[in-house]
Amino acid sequence: MSINIRNFCIIAHIDHGKSTLADRFLELTETVPKNKMKEQVLDQMDLERERGITIKLQPVRMEYRHEDKEYILNLIDTPGHMDFAYEVERSLAAVEGAILLVDATKGIQAQTLANLRLAKDQGLVIIPVLNKMDMPAAQVNEEKIRQEVEDLIGEDNLLAISAKQGTNVEKVLEEVIKRIPAPKVIESSAFKALIFDSAYDSYKGILAYVRVFEGSLKKGEKIHLVNMDKNSDSIEIGHLIPQLDPQNEIKAGEMGYVATGLKDSSLVKVGETITTASTPKTKPVEGYRESRPLVFANIFPSEMKSFPHLKDNMEKLHLNDFSFEFTPTNHAILGRGFKVGFLGMLHLEIVFERLKREYGTKIILTSPTVIYKTQTKKKGTVEISSAQDLPDPNELEGISEPWANLEIITPAMYSSKIHELLKQARGIFKDQRNLSKDDLLILYEAPVAEIIEDFLDNLKSVSQGYASFSYEPSTYKPVDLVKIDYAVVSEVKPSLSKLVHRDKAYRVARDFLLRLKDSLPAQQFSQALQAKIGGKVIAREDIRAARKDVTGALYGGDYTRKAKLLEKQKKGKKKLLAHASVKIPEEVYLKVLKRK
Ligand code: GDP
Ligand code: MG
Repeated sequence: MSINIRNFCIIAHIDHGKSTLADRFLELTETVPKNKMKEQVLDQMDLERERGITIKLQPVRMEYRHEDKEYILNLIDTPGHMDFAYEVERSLAAVEGAILLVDATKGIQAQTLANLRLAKDQGLVIIPVLNKMDMPAAQVNEEKIRQEVEDLIGEDNLLAISAKQGTNVEKVLEEVIKRIPAPKVIESSAFKALIFDSAYDSYKGILAYVRVFEGSLKKGEKIHLVNMDKNSDSIEIGHLIPQLDPQNEIKAGEMGYVATGLKDSSLVKVGETITTASTPKTKPVEGYRESRPLVFANIFPSEMKSFPHLKDNMEKLHLNDFSFEFTPTNHAILGRGFKVGFLGMLHLEIVFERLKREYGTKIILTSPTVIYKTQTKKKGTVEISSAQDLPDPNELEGISEPWANLEIITPAMYSSKIHELLKQARGIFKDQRNLSKDDLLILYEAPVAEIIEDFLDNLKSVSQGYASFSYEPSTYKPVDLVKIDYAVVSEVKPSLSKLVHRDKAYRVARDFLLRLKDSLPAQQFSQALQAKIGGKVIAREDIRAARKDVTGALYGGDYTRKAKLLEKQKKGKKKLLAHASVKIPEEVYLKVLKRK
């Protein structure tokens, strides 16, 4: 019986030291050989290493000897950014306990609270740990932050460590062994495992990362995906150390992987239950929800002819990151592309970066937006994410937009600026309370559309970097949405149209016209750029005329000749203007449609 197992994860706000603590565990347990050790060794992706952030959760199995007993410690390092809250939730479903790490120079931040709540919901044992105690700022803050954490968790037995220097890290492992219960092991029943993550290997197909709850699976045994009701091979099984370590069997209480040989990621979904093909009636593990994208943007190849290349690469990337969604779309100018759903803005940036660098795809990304629900007379509720899809006004009965609950943690001195910022974001104040002597927890509800683009930057800038926030999607609410159309010399260009809240329409329209104006080449005569709502002009800019100096060749005081020439030029312009239709060069479209 494998009772000496502990399954746990490390949760924290971004940058509080999770991956660094994981490094120390890997050293202490000699899981990673000394010569292979580097900082944040579990952050394996190039992008993760460059940016110093964890994007993808990473499980690792460690062996550890304590008081003459051998232990298997299965750890999952999690990403801290709120876009990846779903990854954290999945990790938590696979373990019995969590180390809640708090950077003592910063204290409790928004993601500390959000992740703690997730862990509590799963009924996990929580081990709070103060980190970065080697830093003077942490020592100064220690008493205050101890109090904050104690109040929050109701636990006064706090470990204070330095993950960087290794101080007290061994004590943390001892607490893990002492306080987190061994998994309940049911070996006699049919194999039952929960898929909490997946990866892709070009030879072994989709690798399901699993937590085994019941029974065991032997090498080569046929498996059954319960919710999909589909059989598959298990071409290899094993542990993650963190690389693949093939085994002959994986058993209840353990974590590991099952290589399915499958290439279709829609079959091997996270949250799925695996059993053996001989016991297909096994009941699935419950309580799992699927992630839902929050932010949408369209992706087009920068050259139309490279659409097949883009498609191929999107599919490949999707095997490695199942959390974005993509469906084909068409654009009048940009051609064929994809409408892509992301977990949030950081996720969007990461997918964009990975497509560019891992696959060398040149792409255009349009402004991010949310999914609006339109109520129509004939078709009922229709979901849209671009202005072109807005139903005909006669058909339209109403529009609603997604909202989110926001939690902001900030030193009290910045609170008035933060309230102002939230007012601009159409936020509705909910509640405010003290987390400690200096820190406030402020609760708001706000439209997702207002917080996806610049909100975090603005929050950081009004609080000198001290405030943090997290959000959780709530409900849809009616919105007074308008469609802004842009016309160049009276001709509406549908692909430029945008959906915005009525109160912001003027500002958005002005900004856009200025950008458009700066991007368009100079014309022979000045021309009007207009922003319209329902045919009514709300803003206007003029493309500058690059006047040819027809009088340049003349000198001296012959005013009549000069006037004559200018008169002739004016007539010519009129003639031209009558036929004018400015074709917007493609590169201008790209420039103005693309995210800033
Ligand atoms: P994560 O986002 O929670 O995984 O955080 P990381 O482990 O990537 O660490 C974030 C930053 O904090 C890195 O620059 C680490 O070197 C630093 N860091 C982590 N632990 C400590 C510590 O105990 N002391 C100090 N001084 N820095 C630390
Ligand atoms: Mg990390």
